[in-house]
This record gives sequence, C-alpha cells and structure tokens, in this order.
Amino acid sequence: MTISFELPERIAQELPMIEAVAENIMRPESRALDEREHERPNTFINMMWPVVRDQQKRALDKLAARAEGGEAQKRSGPGINNLRMTLTVEMLSWGDVGQYLCLPMSLLAGAAIEAVGTPEQKERFLRRFAEGDDPVWGAMAMTEPGAGSDTSAIRTTATLDPGTNEWVLNGEKIFCTNGKLALDESNGIVVVWATVDRSAGRAGMKPFVVEAGTPGVTVEKVEIKHGIRASDTASIVLKDARIPYDNILGSAEVVRPDKRSTQGFKGAMATFDASRPLIAASAIGVGRAALEFVKAELAEAGIEIPYNTPYHELSAIQADVLEMEMQLKAAWLLTLRAASLLDHGERNSLEASMAKTKAGKAVTWITQKAVEILGPMGYSREWLVEKWMRDAKINDIYEGTGQINTLIVARRILGYSSKELR
Ligand SMILES: Cc1cc2nc3c(=O)[nH]c(=O)nc-3n(C[C@H](O)[C@H](O)[C@H](O)COP(=O)(O)OP(=O)(O)OC[C@H]3O[C@@H](n4cnc5c(N)ncnc54)[C@H](O)[C@@H]3O)c2cc1C
Repeated sequence: MTISFELPERIAQELPMIEAVAENIMRPESRALDEREHERPNTFINMMWPVVRDQQKRALDKLAARAEGGEAQKRSGPGINNLRMTLTVEMLSWGDVGQYLCLPMSLLAGAAIEAVGTPEQKERFLRRFAEGDDPVWGAMAMTEPGAGSDTSAIRTTATLDPGTNEWVLNGEKIFCTNGKLALDESNGIVVVWATVDRSAGRAGMKPFVVEAGTPGVTVEKVEIKHGIRASDTASIVLKDARIPYDNILGSAEVVRPDKRSTQGFKGAMATFDASRPLIAASAIGVGRAALEFVKAELAEAGIEIPYNTPYHELSAIQADVLEMEMQLKAAWLLTLRAASLLDHGERNSLEASMAKTKAGKAVTWITQKAVEILGPMGYSREWLVEKWMRDAKINDIYEGTGQINTLIVARRILGYSSKELR
C-alpha cells in the first residue's frame, strides 16, 4: 500500500478550524487546568459536544444503513476516517492533551463495540453519543491492581445468573480514562473486561458494556497525576453489578487455546489496532508543541536551524533540534502508515505497535530535550514546556507500555507467539 501525502480535501478544510480551537480555546486554559487537577475543561467540552455529537450521528447512521443494506451498502475503495482522526488528535494534543482526552466521545468503548458488537448493540449503546444536549463519555476498563501489561491476569469475574439471565460482575478496575465522566457525570458507558472462566486464560476474557446508573458500580477514586492532569483517571469497583445478558460483546462461548486461539481477546486487539495510532498521534502533537516552542525561542535569540549544512558544522543545539525534528517525523510517518492501513481495510497490528512505541519514546525524549535546551525557563511554570514534558510520558505507558509494544513488534516480525516470546 502506498501512502499519499496529499491531504484529502475534507480534512484540509477541517484542520484550520481544529487548529483554531487548539490555539484559542485549549492553550489559554492549559496552565490553569494543569494547576487545578480534576476541574473539567468545560469551555472545550461544551464547544466540542455539538460537533462531535453530529459526527458520531453521521457515523452511526452509516453503520446502521450498512447493516440494513448488507454487502451492497459497503463502501468501495479506501476511507479517510482513521487518517482524519489521526490528524485531528495530533492537532488537539498540540493544543492540550489533557483537555483532548476529555473529548465527549465513545472512544475506546466505541472502538470495542464497533469491533465486535452486533448491529443491535451498536444502536443501543452508541446512539447516546449521537443525540441530546448533554455531553456523554465512553471508557474502557481493562487494568486492575494485579493486571496491567499481563492482561490475562485479570480477576474481575462475570458470572451468569441463569434465573434472571443477567451477568453479575465483581472486581476492581483502576486507571480508567474518563471512567468518572462516563459513569458519574453523564449517561455514558464503560466497556469492562472480565473473565467468564479464569482457567481458560485469555480465551475466557470478554468485554461487557456497563451503563451509567448500574447498581453496584461505583467510582471509588480519581488519580492525582504527574501529567495530563485535565484528564479524568478513575478507579471503579463492581460489586454484584447486574447487567443484561445481551451486554456481552461477542460470543459468550469460551474457545480454549488448545482448540483454537484467544477469541475473546481478539476484540481487545482490534480495539488497540484502531487506538494505538491515535495515542501515537497524540504524543506527536505534544512533541510538535515543544519543538515549535524551542525553535521560536532560539530564533528570537538569533539561532536559526540550518537544513543544508554538514552535520560537523552544526552547533550542539542545532544538531539537537535537527535530531528532535527527525525523531518526530519518523514517528509521524509510522503513525500515518498505521492509520492509512486501517482506512484501506488492511491489518495494522504491527504498524500500530511500531508507531505507538516510536512516538512514545521519541516524544518523551523530545520534550526532555526541549526543557534542557531552554534551561531554567524550560523548567519554570511560566512556560508550558515543563508541562509538555510531564504530559508526554503517558504515551509510553497506556495502551501497552513501550516494552510491551516492542515485544508485539518483535513477535510479529519474527513469527513468535506470545507464549514463545515474553
Ligand atoms: C493516566 C493513565 C490512564 C490509563 N487509562 C487506562 C484506561 O483507560 N483503561 C485501562 O484499562 N487502562 C488504563 N491505564 C493503564 C495502563 O494501560 C497500564 O498502566 C499499562 O498497561 C501498564 O500496566 P501496569 O501499570 O500494570 O504496569 P506493569 O505491567 O506492572 O509494568 C511495569 C513495568 O514493567 C514492564 N514490563 C511488564 N511486563 C514486561 C515484559 N513482559 N517485558 C518487558 N517489560 C515488561 C512494563 O513495560 C513497565 O515498564 C492507564 C494508565 C495511566 C497511567
């Protein structure tokens, strides 16, 4: 597959508007929201909700039409949705990544439902993101106190009560992005990963949709964090939480590994294939913010960055800035490829992990370099550079750490299974 570097017209028209939001709405609030963690970026949320709601409505109506029309309604040729989201996320994260994460959307929950949900479930769970005056959030809860990178260790259980035909969920989920916004502050949903059979390992893991207002579901804590402090990160306790049988996404059947693979977990992988390029894009937005700021400050001090000078003639700072730029571009190209593959209907698991790993590491380094180059003012709260340095690191942690995504890349290239290379 070849990548075209021409922006599709629709995206080219939208981007300046998104840039205006990033520059005029997000940036001015950035410092205050960082200082006042847990305060909601209401200006951004209220401005974006009608836009996002209408986009989600169009997408959902299309899904419904396709489900009704069957194959005949299927799109011919590549789409642009993933590329569009990638560019949008990069731009909004350039504005402020913590605020961007509060975008009222179905996000990871929507990705999971789209990946494995039935047409009826898509309508039932996603319609709330496409109508109404009040913003709605979706979230995904996989991580637990004893299960992060090793997702097969999750202990949250889902037991079927045959008397009522309900699933009964018990367990604790931690570090759930937008968990409080979804459950306590809107009529949202959380896709909770639970096991229906622990002895089956990953094959027993299934995603369940838990709706706001479900008895037995409580948000116990919101994290105080190093970066992305405008973002909501919640711990959720499920105590005999009963949900209808039809809230399971995909089949309830457990296909054991010795029979054939990790059925239930495939939903999670499909979700990550779609979301990892977006995490990479978000990282790159933060990195670009830092890089542009450094270049502007250096230009003001009379230091230009030459692009056609031999390396040995560059000053140390010029060489550093060129290296920052190179790392950012490399990560961006991998990200565009991962998103474009999805738009072409092709598998992108390898490329999604490559982009996420590269972007997470590159941007952690780039933002640290930015602070270093700018000296004490880089470290001062007067400028946003120190904040970008704190905001950058999360991209190397969530949705699979750098180490875990590197392992995924190695497995895919070398042809090893997760049992053979871990
Ligand atoms: C702000 C924030 C938001 C989050 N949002 C969500 C969310 O919305 N939903 C959700 O489900 N989770 C979320 N998470 C959780 C996140 O995905 C996990 O923190 C991450 O997957 C790492 O898991 P862990 O914290 O248990 O670390 P661990 O798995 O304990 O890892 C600790 C360290 O060991 C390394 N390590 C582990 N295994 C290996 C290995 N086999 N080889 C080499 N190194 C290894 C890791 O890379 C890491 O450096 C969020 C986390 C944060 C901080």
